[in-house]
Amino acid sequence: MQLTVPYHLENYIGGNFIGPLSGKFIDNVNPATNEVYGQIPDSNERDVNIAVLAAKKAFPAWSRASSEKRFTILNKIAELINQHLEELALAETNDNGKPLWLSRKVDIPRASSNFRFFATGIMHFSTESHSMEDKAINYTLRQPIGIVGCISPWNLPLYLFTWKIAPALASGNCVIAKPSEVTPVTAFLLGKICKEAGLPDGVLNILHGTGPSCGEAIVKHPAIKAISFTGSTRAGAQIASIAAPQFKKLSLELGGKNPNIIFEDCHWEKMMKTTLQSSFSNQGEICLCGSRILIQSSVYEKFKEEFVRKAQQLVVGDPLEESSQQGAIVSKVHFDKIMGCIETAKREGGRILTGGNGITLDGRCSNGFFIEPTVIEGLGPDCKTNLEEIFGPVVTLQSFETEEEALHLANAGTYGLSATIWTQDVSRANRIAAKVESGIIWVNCWLLRDLRTPFGGMKNSGVGREGGWEALRFFTEAKNVCIEL
Ligand code: NAD
Repeated sequence: MQLTVPYHLENYIGGNFIGPLSGKFIDNVNPATNEVYGQIPDSNERDVNIAVLAAKKAFPAWSRASSEKRFTILNKIAELINQHLEELALAETNDNGKPLWLSRKVDIPRASSNFRFFATGIMHFSTESHSMEDKAINYTLRQPIGIVGCISPWNLPLYLFTWKIAPALASGNCVIAKPSEVTPVTAFLLGKICKEAGLPDGVLNILHGTGPSCGEAIVKHPAIKAISFTGSTRAGAQIASIAAPQFKKLSLELGGKNPNIIFEDCHWEKMMKTTLQSSFSNQGEICLCGSRILIQSSVYEKFKEEFVRKAQQLVVGDPLEESSQQGAIVSKVHFDKIMGCIETAKREGGRILTGGNGITLDGRCSNGFFIEPTVIEGLGPDCKTNLEEIFGPVVTLQSFETEEEALHLANAGTYGLSATIWTQDVSRANRIAAKVESGIIWVNCWLLRDLRTPFGGMKNSGVGREGGWEALRFFTEAKNVCIEL
């Protein structure tokens, strides 16, 4: 099988590739060149309705299929993703603007790992039993929920799409999934791969379209019993308001404004190298990026000088070039949003230490959306710049004297997704890790991921956890059976 990207993408419903019932399409733009290079279905509730019918038809057989059968098919999908690494990586880069080497090294291999991880996971999934001495025995059945909705964002397109779909399918559900309309192509190609891998028709249905039209139709549909969503806090709140009155199960992975806390006793070289990555990887478009850098005052000036110098050396360029460390911002809309945030920072009194501008490249990418790595200082914890997610290559520096002050700054604001702590004092690392209001804490590292660990945020960064057993539990309904002895 060759994975080719047609000009018009189609929905994948009931094992068939079909256009949207409305006949309407949306332009798909390559952000590195600003060229429209395809169109995607502008799906609505009518498309969702037929996808639900297909899923209903497939559910009885899939939910009863043995875990060995599900393992075999999902593992085959993982293998096929690996086999098509090059085509998928190129598609991801053309759609998202991220460097091709990054798609090749991280995004696509992780999509494959997601399928492999949950394929094997379902073979080991077990349930609890509670004995009431000589009175009774309870056991828990964990059954598939039925039809579930998975909605994902544009920053790690296939990586996050599969992070939801794989556990949903492994645990015996049928899925209606929607990738971001900004980066739809690898999700479309995944449909081809699933077909090739022998996933029964209707088990996975992939719909394309906007949030308000297609996404909301998925959330509203009464036959879709659970929603797993990753995206902005704004959309998460809207989804919760629709799903809650219908008592749907909800998993919400939302925005972040993550603190990166640097103490004077840290391992300096490792901290500096990793902090550059946690600030600017994927153009700063990772929900886990450390966008608020908090530095102990004794090393503030040293940090600032070296960090700014190294940020200036980062190569922003054509995502297809191996030398590009930073590629294009995902869209014109997002480019404008980030530039607006930089203007806000200036109005708030922030000093731009480096960056702050859009970049015009030569040649193929002369119309693309590129932004300089940007470092800002002089702003306190209560300003918009330090409270609101920017989701671009923009970080702020703040200094602190004591551990208490570091914690105060770290916990300022409404987000609570992740935090990074740099210190060689293990006791201090443990103390701070326990007190920082974030769901994910890294000590002396960043983005080191074990897929078995609970993943998700506190406060406005989300509800629920993904990963490992948490995901398999989310996608199953627990039923207790009590037998009197
Ligand atoms: P977004 O909320 O605009 O869109 C995410 C997805 O939801 C898209 O598929 C979109 O079409 C859909 N959508 C939008 N409005 C909807 C609605 N009302 N009903 C149903 N679906 C709707 O987010 P984005 O701009 O694509 O992604 C960036 C955001 O995602 C950032 O805030 C980032 O922090 C967050 N994010 C969080 C995590 C995490 O794990 N917590 C991971 C990656 C990204």
